Amino acid sequence: MSKQGVNPDELSQPFWDGANDNKLMIQNCITCNKLQHPPEAECRDCENGELEWKEMSGKGKIYNYVVVYDCPVRTLQEDQPFNVAVVMLNEDPGIQMYSHLPGVPADEVPVGSDVEVIFEKLPNGQHVPEWKISN
Ligand SMILES: [Zn+2]
Repeated sequence: MSKQGVNPDELSQPFWDGANDNKLMIQNCITCNKLQHPPEAECRDCENGELEWKEMSGKGKIYNYVVVYDCPVRTLQEDQPFNVAVVMLNEDPGIQMYSHLPGVPADEVPVGSDVEVIFEKLPNGQHVPEWKISN
């Protein structure tokens, strides 16, 4: 089961729509050519840039991780402990996403490993990006 909260709103809708097409979409400023995530109404750098959505390669690297032993979300407690890994995108290491690394035992996260995006389907049909270790 996915452990990510999914609350699409006007800003993040293209991200979730992309996920449903099994695409990792990240907001990009056309003016200064910078990626940003999570999405915002304006570019964080130039503030008046024109924003677009760009499809990523879906490849990244594990930067770091923590193991969650005491999650406040009750529906997740039966899965404890679980990993929360920080994944840097290859396109821009400054763009970081979180993953539970399905299939990787808690506290056995290979930091520095290459990962690629996969999509998990929630009961409501929404796809959620997750990451797995690349072969
Ligand atoms: Zn900009």
